[in-house]
Amino acid sequence: MKVQEVEMVMSAVSEAQYPTDQLPEIALSGRSNVGKSSLINKLINRKSYARTSSKPGKTQTLNFYKVESQLYFVDVPGYGYAKVSKKQREKFGQIIETYLTTRQNVRGLISLIDGRHEPTEDDVAMYVFAKYYDLPVLVVATKMDKISKSKWNRQEKIIKEKLDFNPVDKFVSFSALTGAGKEQVWEWIERQCEI
Ligand code: GDP
Repeated sequence: MKVQEVEMVMSAVSEAQYPTDQLPEIALSGRSNVGKSSLINKLINRKSYARTSSKPGKTQTLNFYKVESQLYFVDVPGYGYAKVSKKQREKFGQIIETYLTTRQNVRGLISLIDGRHEPTEDDVAMYVFAKYYDLPVLVVATKMDKISKSKWNRQEKIIKEKLDFNPVDKFVSFSALTGAGKEQVWEWIERQCEI
């Protein structure tokens, strides 16, 4: 999709604030600092539309980005940030869980995982959770420019093994710096949203 028009619609704290226009929604999750804002900005060809968080864990609400009046990206709160309290963490978890399990418009989840490392326990929990609810998942390994291309396949294998990756899902190696994987991410989104 060639994106020209993006609207930051809202930061929603409660369900009552979610959009009502029934467009398909693609949720994006990942631990803080994984590169979620950078991915969103790359997908919509903006330098800093989605907030690139200088402070990890800052995004604590669902952010809805309306793209070309065709779909929403829904940026869900970053998880796994050690410095927030247990109570806060539980609250984020609840927002994400309620959204993903009750929202009819969600067509899939983009789960971002740092491509340089093994998935964290939180990454695994997120994937297991999505699979439990039959949500189609695109796993995006981020920051792949930091790894030599000869190691990409090996890294993909490590991540898939740790996640017990389901072959119905897709995996993309991505770099916000070089744009690698961007087209594949868009293809998956368009397929999920039937656009
Ligand atoms: P968020 O907290 O998940 O939204 O993460 P950000 O998008 O703010 O990125 C966190 C940090 O990682 C920032 O310093 C980004 O510049 C950096 N970063 C994100 N994506 C990439 C990437 O693909 N390659 C490299 N080299 N750095 C990245």
